[in-house]
Amino acid sequence: MKKLEMLYEGKAKKVYKTEDEKKYIVEYKDDATAFNGLKKGTIGDKGIINNKMSALLFTLLEEKGVPTHFEGQLNDREMLVKAVEILPLEVIVRNVAAGSLAKRLGLDEGVEMKTTVLEFCFKNDALGDPMVNEDHIEAIALATKEQVALIRSYALQVNQYLRAFFIEKGLKLIDFKLEFGVYEGKVILADEISPDTCRLWDAETNRKMDKDRFRRDLGEVEETYQEVLSRLQK
Ligand code: UDP
Repeated sequence: MKKLEMLYEGKAKKVYKTEDEKKYIVEYKDDATAFNGLKKGTIGDKGIINNKMSALLFTLLEEKGVPTHFEGQLNDREMLVKAVEILPLEVIVRNVAAGSLAKRLGLDEGVEMKTTVLEFCFKNDALGDPMVNEDHIEAIALATKEQVALIRSYALQVNQYLRAFFIEKGLKLIDFKLEFGVYEGKVILADEISPDTCRLWDAETNRKMDKDRFRRDLGEVEETYQEVLSRLQK
């Protein structure tokens, strides 16, 4: 499958049309941003790692029965995906307090949630992706009630499957962000699943093994991304 015109360039990925109007090619970049674009940098080979890790996890989720946009890995940096219409929502799933949740509720990072917490944010860079509830989502037509119900159910299933998979690899899944799209009228999982979008802590030491190393200047960013991928491939 050949790349045609570029449709969209985001912070971490480029999306291209293909000869098949129902398929896109996603190219993963090494560029990294944090704090709504305020901090910019690159993480060497991140694009390759995130492409491979997303391919691996989308394959696992498809096997478990969660529909995704993933069609196949094309090469180191590119995957073929279904041409979805992305819903303007970021779906955040939290098992342990960290990041903005710890700050907002005054919790220490690492405090376990008694039950899994789901949050929705309106995907809008100019507004800084504000948090919205299900009433807002319906009231401003970001998604329908039925779509939100499906998204909730898929997000919780993804959490269950990924948690179990990561812990086998010595990684705790603290929180993560998902995006969903609509394809042939159906809601499916889209975007990526990588150390850019998940918080992963070493199960023994609680060492941060994700984008927080970049956000918080913790060092060994590239090495840690590589380490996560190689653990998952074992
Ligand atoms: N996240 C993401 N993209 C975003 C915001 C959050 O991938 O635009 C992920 C983030 O990596 C973490 C989870 O969602 O795994 C929860 O992030 P949080 O709300 O704590 O925000 P942050 O601390 O990243 O500002």
